Amino acid sequence: MKVPGPVSAGFAPALVHWQRRDGRHGLPWQGTRDPYRVWLSEIMLQQTQVSTVLGYYPRFLSRFPDVHALAAASEDEVMSLWSGLGYYSRARNLHRCACTVVSEHGGHFPATSSVLATLPGIGDSTAAAIAAFCHGERVSIADGNVRRVLSRLLAFEGDLSQARAQRELWQLAQSLLPERPSADDMVAYTQGLMDLGAGVCTLRQPACERCPVAALCEARRSGTTDRFPVKTKRVARRHESWWLLVLRKTEAGQLSIWLERRPPRGIWAGLHCVPVAGDDAQALAVVGEHAGAARHLPALAHALTHRELRLHPVLVDLVPGAAEPVIPNGRWVPMEQLSDVGLPAPVRSLLQQLPG
Ligand code: SF4
Repeated sequence: MKVPGPVSAGFAPALVHWQRRDGRHGLPWQGTRDPYRVWLSEIMLQQTQVSTVLGYYPRFLSRFPDVHALAAASEDEVMSLWSGLGYYSRARNLHRCACTVVSEHGGHFPATSSVLATLPGIGDSTAAAIAAFCHGERVSIADGNVRRVLSRLLAFEGDLSQARAQRELWQLAQSLLPERPSADDMVAYTQGLMDLGAGVCTLRQPACERCPVAALCEARRSGTTDRFPVKTKRVARRHESWWLLVLRKTEAGQLSIWLERRPPRGIWAGLHCVPVAGDDAQALAVVGEHAGAARHLPALAHALTHRELRLHPVLVDLVPGAAEPVIPNGRWVPMEQLSDVGLPAPVRSLLQQLPG
């Protein structure tokens, strides 16, 4: 497939002009060419709303103002500040990437998208965003939002659940880039693609009437915006029930919770968590003679990308002086230290609201 001449000639100028006049300008990660700040925002914004990131970004930056500070931190501290943003592999990769930048690149992010894409957690689109925003590299981003925009613009029939079609669309995206752009043009163009996907050409009901490239859009012309992007694979969400065993004890006036670390892969990988059981009997078997003290708290619903979790908290207050249950992994963590530990968001909020 080739991009029709009028589209390749008109798309970039219209988008750049629109972004400068009507696009987003006041976001805290805009107006900088510092790769650390751009990288951090790009990773936080993956699968996450701007409104959510607005709360995390400044907090993260004030604790880790540069890549050296982030690399020097423990993974636990990074996970703890990330807690609630979800997709925790991003936080682990963020830390690994900072360590790699410091140990292998002298603390400087590489300047080109091709080298950036070799770093942990930096995919092609994120690498392109960093290189375009910080160095004006003439390279196109192609995240999910941008693919949606371009697939409508070009009425692209390829199945975007397939890597091959994604690559083909990225080639087309490259041919839409501005001719001989300045660094500022690349910033406006890249931000324009993001703004268009986030606020105009949205998943449901694209606002074609205020789209700056409506005159060039094939899906709009043919009345087929709802057909694009083409994606055949639909991932059904699985339903699962988990029992969360909240073991609590008071010793020398201090209230503590038993936490263990989740396995390195799977849901909440690498985070701390209360012990998880597959059913009620399994949860109570862990506490043995303390089972009589168990209190079943109201169940919580928690949605993940591919799973719908039903969480059943079981609170057990250990009787002072009685033998503690033997659990192979984990440790007692005082309540006032919970904020220093990386916990999944629903577990953190559960522990904050335990009854007395
Ligand atoms: Fe998307 Fe409509 Fe613009 Fe086409 S005209 S790119 S469908 S918002």
